[in-house]
Amino acid sequence: MLENWIVVPTCLPLVRRRCHACASERFRASGKFRVNANHKLIDAWLLALCTACGETAKLTVLERTTVRSVRPDLLDRLHDNDPGLTTELLQDPAVRRRNRIALDWDGAWHLDTGGSDHLDREVIDVSVYFAARIPVRPVRLIAEGCALSRAEVERLITEGKLVSAVRLSGRLSGDFTFTLKR
Ligand SMILES: [Zn+2]
Repeated sequence: MLENWIVVPTCLPLVRRRCHACASERFRASGKFRVNANHKLIDAWLLALCTACGETAKLTVLERTTVRSVRPDLLDRLHDNDPGLTTELLQDPAVRRRNRIALDWDGAWHLDTGGSDHLDREVIDVSVYFAARIPVRPVRLIAEGCALSRAEVERLITEGKLVSAVRLSGRLSGDFTFTLKR
């Protein structure tokens, strides 16, 4: 029987970026945007606050962009400080590249295994879905989902009892499946 597990975000990830005012490397998205329209050009930033000292950092969303080329619904959402827009922008690789930031998902996601029936079975096939592209270690995920220690999961991989088409060492942020035979 195929099990479906889902990796679900529980809150916004932190933004990894060095603070110029203190030594901290974590910012929290404020949920607020600043928009500056000048003639026909527009700049827009997502404001983030240093988790240690509260310093504000501006993450570029639009940079000297022609107003006419910006979708009207995006302008509305920027002006309304739309909370969903913060989530979308942080998950946009182009926004992350432009601002040279990475995301810290520690403590910002949850694994939903849909119950504990699978814990008693000798063989389980599991499909893991990611509701957002959250980089997690499969070993940690499987350990949590199967109530095993990470060392036990590593041992099962070595013994060939835990198999997958993807590499289970390292990190993943996309859907994968695995089979566990105890
Ligand atoms: Zn700071």
